[in-house]
Amino acid sequence: MQLPLIVVHGGAGNWKDERIPVGIEHVEKAAIAGFKVLETSGSALDAAEVCTSYMESCGQLNAGRGARPNSDGELELDALIIDGSKLDFGAVGAVTGIVNPVSLARYVMEKTDYKFFVGNNAKRVYDQMIAEGYREEIAEGDLQPADAPSGDTVGCIVVDSDGNIAATSSTGGIKKKIPGRVGDSPVMGAGAFANEICGASATGWGEHIMRVVLSRMTVLYVEEGLDVTAAAHKGIKMFEEKTGSKAGIIVADRSGNYGFSHNAKAMPLAIISRELKNMTSHACRE
Ligand code: ASP
Repeated sequence: MQLPLIVVHGGAGNWKDERIPVGIEHVEKAAIAGFKVLETSGSALDAAEVCTSYMESCGQLNAGRGARPNSDGELELDALIIDGSKLDFGAVGAVTGIVNPVSLARYVMEKTDYKFFVGNNAKRVYDQMIAEGYREEIAEGDLQPADAPSGDTVGCIVVDSDGNIAATSSTGGIKKKIPGRVGDSPVMGAGAFANEICGASATGWGEHIMRVVLSRMTVLYVEEGLDVTAAAHKGIKMFEEKTGSKAGIIVADRSGNYGFSHNAKAMPLAIISRELKNMTSHACRE
């Protein structure tokens, strides 16, 4: 039995060599935070939210507090959370003034009749979420961009002991994006996807990831009979052939098998399977 399982990525991209250990450190910490939730009988969704919130809060990855500013110098955040067992999701795009868009995405999924909010009106939903006590407010002083150069988009897949799958994606987007630009990360099926069989979370150049609906396609390959590793490689090969661009993907099925693939310089990964002591992590260099 390979469950429970958490697979975490810190973004596929052109990582500076000296930043790679920082990326690994924070995906490891995120994996531990999420896995501890699973150990205390939290759901896959709870663990995925905690894991992703950690990466949004750490200020060292391209999400939440550490997000890459847009061309106006503002942090505009995108996030997606998926409950594979219900084929349900919540998403937010281009939201400003918050640290943990993944929690807002979960609120959208669980507490509204809608799936996707953007911009200033997503912030209004956030204010409603705080007023209802769903999650706590993060102090405004904590919203300054991180001093350190950012890492990359973050995401995870969690499979709990019952085989329920949750997946996330959270980002500040690509370098020098103009205000209002939203990439793949909050788009169901592109930035991430999960159903009752398999989950995937993608990272890379969002405009191109959306063109091939990378996460959904990769899960489809598993549904058609490939193992998760073969499906991850097929997904990235298809992506590269169709777009000539760079991306990475993590994949996990309901039995706790996981795989990954990318065609960028590096993609920090941390994986914990069955027990906390079984953590493995690496830079997944090209
Ligand atoms: N996929 C993200 C976006 O296009 C960026 C990344 O993963 O590095 O917004």
